Amino acid sequence: MTYDVIVAGAGSAGFGAAAGAARTGKKVLLLDSNSGPGGITSFGGCPVFTPYLLKNEKPAGVFREFIAELGDRCHSPAGRGTFNTSEFDVTSAMTRMLSRLHVDMLFYATLIEAAVSGNVIESVTVFCCGKKLRFSASCFVDATGDAVLTDLAGGKTRTADEEESMTKTVLFRVSGVKGFDREKVKALFPDAGFPYPQQDRFMAAPVGRDGEDLLINLTAVSGNAMDPFDKTRMDIELREQVAVIHRWMKEKLPGFEDCRISSVAPVMGVRGSRFIVGRTVVTCRDLDENTPVPDPVAVGQRSYGDHFVRKFAGPWHKMNAGTRGIPYRALLPEKIRNLAACGRCISIDPKIATAVRYAPCCMATGQAAGIAAALGIPGYEVLKKELVRQNAV
Ligand SMILES: Cc1cc2nc3c(=O)[nH]c(=O)nc-3n(C[C@H](O)[C@H](O)[C@H](O)COP(=O)(O)OP(=O)(O)OC[C@H]3O[C@@H](n4cnc5c(N)ncnc54)[C@H](O)[C@@H]3O)c2cc1C
Repeated sequence: MTYDVIVAGAGSAGFGAAAGAARTGKKVLLLDSNSGPGGITSFGGCPVFTPYLLKNEKPAGVFREFIAELGDRCHSPAGRGTFNTSEFDVTSAMTRMLSRLHVDMLFYATLIEAAVSGNVIESVTVFCCGKKLRFSASCFVDATGDAVLTDLAGGKTRTADEEESMTKTVLFRVSGVKGFDREKVKALFPDAGFPYPQQDRFMAAPVGRDGEDLLINLTAVSGNAMDPFDKTRMDIELREQVAVIHRWMKEKLPGFEDCRISSVAPVMGVRGSRFIVGRTVVTCRDLDENTPVPDPVAVGQRSYGDHFVRKFAGPWHKMNAGTRGIPYRALLPEKIRNLAACGRCISIDPKIATAVRYAPCCMATGQAAGIAAALGIPGYEVLKKELVRQNAV
């Protein structure tokens, strides 16, 4: 079957890409190995969205529409600048929006091959329901989070080393916590004998309309998420940690005595793994010096260096204020002419992954990559015109 645009990966970035491409009127296929869209925000158990907004700014583009689609299923705890919902609501809101845009969706489909001629991808093959299926398109989007399509097509990628790639986490929720006082728990955390010392910061967020559940972000292992055996080892260790941490919370934290685990993410949360090497690579220096960006497609934050493997803040941690544009060139692999990447695998120094990896930012780079693919990977001015038309500013 032939499409105008094929988007591989249906996380926040792939969702943004499929929506952006479909809005141009093109025929779009969105595929994923999971059973629906959302990636880390649904299957990774993190339906929490942190936009990089400056004071008085409002969300824009596909992210704004997504919040509107969630309606009263979207919660924004006062003053925290984040939005949360449930995993189910992420997947169903995305599915409804993509259906209205006539995006063809194919789930349980793992991308396994890319056929390339010269510097152009001609088709991709997925493994789905015991069959190999092949699809062609004019342009493709790599929204796999792990730069899978770029790699399969022979494009240059860079796998982050263990420290740069940040800890991996299995998120889980507890319910039945009485009178949760975040500041109090944070203050007693360092002396409370937490069983995993690399996690030196209490991280948990109330989720749901009244904060009825706590999303616990405390499991942490390090390793290489691109190595199948290491990935399996990490997943097993993280799930053991869930049980140990739950027992520890019940014993040590005030108000947690009767808490119970209400859900555990089916998929391990990976913060950084493999990145494309694009026409530019965004570096620590770019964020520190705020070097001008001639071709911005979205905004990311300028601070970076969290979730280091030995403690929360890495040796390269920087708290630069404000935001910086993400260059179009960081979405475009060096050599492949009809491919754009988006989300957490764009062309950056892995040390600054936090500057671009939050879900709303992934949707925004996704929307830009999707439009770029729909328009045949045009020059920046053409892309910008369509981004403005789609209110992605
Ligand atoms: C523990 C944790 C906590 C976080 N907390 C927050 C937070 O509070 N706020 C916030 O905004 N962000 C948070 N984030 C970051 C954010 O959720 C993710 O970085 C972002 O959603 C990544 O989007 P993505 O689409 O680039 O990648 P992903 O969500 O990883 O999506 C990639 C998709 O590609 C698919 N895929 C991969 N390979 C293949 C293949 N070969 N074939 C088919 N499909 C494939 C995967 O199944 C997946 O659905 C957190 C992340 C983690 C891990």
